[in-house]
Amino acid sequence: MKFYSTRGKSVYENAAAAIAKGLAEDGGLFVPETFPCLKESLANMLEMDYAERACLVIHSFLQEYDKIELLDACKKAYGRFEDNDAAPVCKIDENLFILELFHGPTLAFKDIALTLLPYLLRKGSDISGIKEKIMVLVATSGDTGKAALEGFMNANGIDINVFYPSQGVSDMQKLQMCTQEGENVNVVAVNGNFDDCQTAVKKLFTDDKFVAELKEQNIILSSANSINFGRLVPQIAYYFSAYCDLVNCGEIKMGDKVNFVVPTGNFGNILAGYYAKLMGLPVEKLICASNDNNVLTEFFADGTYDANREFFKTVSPSMDILISSNLERLIFEISGRNADLTRERMEELKKQGKYALSDGEKTAIDKEFFAGYCDEEDCLNTIADFFDEYGYVLDTHTAVAVNVNEQYLAYTGENAPTVILSTASPYKFPQSVYGAITGKKINDAFSAAYKLFDESAAPIPEQISTLKSKTVRFKKVVEKNETGDAVKEFIASRK
Ligand SMILES: *Cc1c(COP(=O)(O)O)cnc(C)c1O
Repeated sequence: MKFYSTRGKSVYENAAAAIAKGLAEDGGLFVPETFPCLKESLANMLEMDYAERACLVIHSFLQEYDKIELLDACKKAYGRFEDNDAAPVCKIDENLFILELFHGPTLAFKDIALTLLPYLLRKGSDISGIKEKIMVLVATSGDTGKAALEGFMNANGIDINVFYPSQGVSDMQKLQMCTQEGENVNVVAVNGNFDDCQTAVKKLFTDDKFVAELKEQNIILSSANSINFGRLVPQIAYYFSAYCDLVNCGEIKMGDKVNFVVPTGNFGNILAGYYAKLMGLPVEKLICASNDNNVLTEFFADGTYDANREFFKTVSPSMDILISSNLERLIFEISGRNADLTRERMEELKKQGKYALSDGEKTAIDKEFFAGYCDEEDCLNTIADFFDEYGYVLDTHTAVAVNVNEQYLAYTGENAPTVILSTASPYKFPQSVYGAITGKKINDAFSAAYKLFDESAAPIPEQISTLKSKTVRFKKVVEKNETGDAVKEFIASRK
């Protein structure tokens, strides 16, 4: 299958090259030429385990990859999750389900893609005849960084450099990253917020001088952010898998439509749901939930994307984003795959910080999406109420989704089968979650985690309990124009 850039039809590659490169040369994002229809395969998927379902979905795009080998890679990746199930569905109430995506090595949904991406990337570059060493650059709002580090640790021929906003991640997230083991990893804090970090990293990809300098040393860049199609494609799988699980346990009949509610930042997770729908999965609405950084809520309300606004630091830091990269892929589809128009809009976004959809496009997205947001107080109250009512401990991101779903139910008055995507373990944000449930303030992350356990009896994941004794290896902080130098320094240290 061919892959186009969202910004220019002439740039196309196969999936292997699209994944190995991460970002198209014109700065656009790779999109598949078509979406394979898996409607007929759904019945077969019912019998499969998670790794088999994932392999089927992924291989429908990545046909140059050997299917047996891919299945093996999926089994290895998803074998790293608790109980071998990367995406269990938990019934909460009549027609209300939580898809728990946080049982992987780093306790966030990013693990689902990032446990598999090293294989997809290595294999993709082999298939494409790329001989150079790969330097993976990551900008993270907290969870991608750790999941990528864990996924790529000691990967053959691949080094990884993670950049995170110095003040923009939770204590647990920071500690998880800065204690990362492995020789091929580097972690650097950037003075600024996530958008500064992401923009600085994206710039390196199109900085000809920087790219040429690396090339001389036989190194090419790739990305582990959700701008890489290899990040998105494993995420499509859990939408199919959740649907199959609901059919298997008799909660829905094959063909019934389901709502998915997604706590959203960079629009990768929910875009994967939209892609699943384009591939024939019976989805009613995709509900896009934001925190106080509600640029997407306004985009869906009035068709204008306007990033000129105050940036808020919230208790759901992984959603503190104003430039939502993957929206580019949605507006590409909605525009009738008009690459020229998409490029113009991305230029407007860069220059003026905003762009607007046409009325026709606005109507088209209204059919597919509902969007809402939830402020800090409502987020914390939702955690408390949900715990009271169901005894279930939500993390701060998932709580935003639960709250926005309640808004949606109030708005429509319907109660369709609904799956909330739970993106992180509450133990990654213990101070906020413990505070929400008890009204008590604890500053230390570990004390809060132990207290949260006492309060809720939700088991503390081993990844958290062992974190405290690990050595902090990375302390470097740079300005946003110094990210390139930090990468070069890391490269020099690897020789
Ligand atoms: C990354 C992340 C999100 C946002 O996902 P996007 O794909 O960027 O929209 C939400 N919640 C958590 C916990 C995350 O780590």
